[in-house]
Amino acid sequence: MKTDVVIIGGGVIGTAIARELSRYRLDITLIEKEEDVAMGTSKGNSGIIHAGYDADFKTLKGQLNVKSNLQFDKLCRDLKIPFKRIGSLVVGFTKEDFNKLKDLKENGEKNGIKNLKIITDDELFKLEPNLNPQVKYALYAPAAGIISPYELTIALADNAVINGAKVLLETEVKDIRIENGQVCGVVTNLGLIETRVIINAAGLYADEMAKGVGENFKIKPLKGEYQLFDKQWGNLVNHILFPIPTKLSKGILVAPTVHNNLLIGPNSYQVEEKDDLATTKAGIKEVYEEAKKLIPHLPHQDLVASFAGLRADVEGGDDFIIEASKKIRGFINVAGIVSPGLSSAPAITEMVSDILKEVAQKIYPQLELNYKNNFTETLPAQPRFTDYVDKIEKWQEIIEKDSDYGEIICRCEKVSKGEIIRAIHRPVPAKSLDAIKRRTRAGMGRCQGGFCSPRVLRILSEELKISPLRITKKGPGSEVLKTMTKEMIKETGVKIKDEVRV
Ligand SMILES: Cc1cc2nc3c(=O)[nH]c(=O)nc-3n(C[C@H](O)[C@H](O)[C@H](O)COP(=O)(O)OP(=O)(O)OC[C@H]3O[C@@H](n4cnc5c(N)ncnc54)[C@H](O)[C@@H]3O)c2cc1C
Repeated sequence: MKTDVVIIGGGVIGTAIARELSRYRLDITLIEKEEDVAMGTSKGNSGIIHAGYDADFKTLKGQLNVKSNLQFDKLCRDLKIPFKRIGSLVVGFTKEDFNKLKDLKENGEKNGIKNLKIITDDELFKLEPNLNPQVKYALYAPAAGIISPYELTIALADNAVINGAKVLLETEVKDIRIENGQVCGVVTNLGLIETRVIINAAGLYADEMAKGVGENFKIKPLKGEYQLFDKQWGNLVNHILFPIPTKLSKGILVAPTVHNNLLIGPNSYQVEEKDDLATTKAGIKEVYEEAKKLIPHLPHQDLVASFAGLRADVEGGDDFIIEASKKIRGFINVAGIVSPGLSSAPAITEMVSDILKEVAQKIYPQLELNYKNNFTETLPAQPRFTDYVDKIEKWQEIIEKDSDYGEIICRCEKVSKGEIIRAIHRPVPAKSLDAIKRRTRAGMGRCQGGFCSPRVLRILSEELKISPLRITKKGPGSEVLKTMTKEMIKETGVKIKDEVRV
């Protein structure tokens, strides 16, 4: 197989780059080792689109965050995903904290944010009535917002595919091929893919990819643990609440999610393994205790899930690495994309596109990066029952066209069969229970899939035309069923001896 550009990694950065480059007349191939996009850091984070007062104005983090923040309203409208610009408050208790808030405000203004404000007393408690009464000051940033990071990543990938990019899932880059100081291909588990440009957006593994071209930065994972409360608690706070940030992180926040759950976390500590996503007893305690300093009455009885994410922290570095390799032509690093990477994704893609133009001139002098005249910026709307609860007659019209929208499969999140079938046939298709969950929310509610998982499994099996025994939770090795009941065997006609995998 031959392609103009290979992008390694289907996180928010790789998929955003794929979408941006699909504006041009280029053959683009995104390679992702997992069974779906958004399986790395882009699924386990706070989902905040930061205002951009935190990072130093001299860094890429500071500049790209502010530049990107303004783009999210249009981007999310185009991609038909929810985004709420609810604003953030960094809160302080002491005079020393007040001085830190002043510094943050000054830094934010240097970064180009105009409407930052320090607020106190009545003004503050009017905005946040449930805030700890001992809080004295807050830096208010109306530009901050909340988003679902995996819904954004999936939508970016879908849009790239609609515009001609290829997304290869379950395909792992094992080696980089170089000839005369120039990239000439990637070796994957499925064979060689010839290319003269590689964009390294491999997240936690970007150092291992870069090693292939002689670069030697090192990524150390920094874990962050979270707790998520049931939907009825999203209204406990109106804004994203942060403590005073430290050198290591922005601190343990309390915020509603875009689907109105309440989220607390993350803590921050180094771990050895790049796949260590376990939550810990100590972490749960730390997150809960710290969050209580902001909102004293947390609904511990309504905790629905805890999870963790890993920051791709570059040893000894404190900024994104976005540059063409100085050693090998055709290799571009987009590495060390820690927070605010999600918030900076749109401006990162523009920067990568400019680097690619320079790189391409040296490699393919005949290649001009011309825009396609048929680039489609938007995705079609996905009907969701939860968007229609107040306009039930309109939902009735949808059911009349397709009766699958009239059958509710996930009771907690109110997801219909039609929504699940649609997710299975999206440009980047859902093939597992978790992939359905990320696209539709089926299984994300209070019972965490206890009721709907068997039903979703059956729909996946019918639509993909494969045995229920081959349906997985999250890709090969996570098959859900070990065997089937007599009733299932009769219904599906599966020969059990041939299919059982234990
Ligand atoms: C706890 C936490 C909280 C955060 N909160 C926020 C926030 O609120 N706001 C914000 O702006 N940012 C936040 N971030 C940062 C943000 O999540 C990241 O910047 C962003 O998700 C990075 O995306 P990525 O595409 O670089 O990496 P990833 O999402 O990890 O994607 C990399 C992909 O590459 C794939 N891959 C790796 N190696 C290979 C290979 N050899 N072959 C093929 N594929 C490969 C992986 O499977 C993965 O899917 C947070 C991060 C963490 C950990």
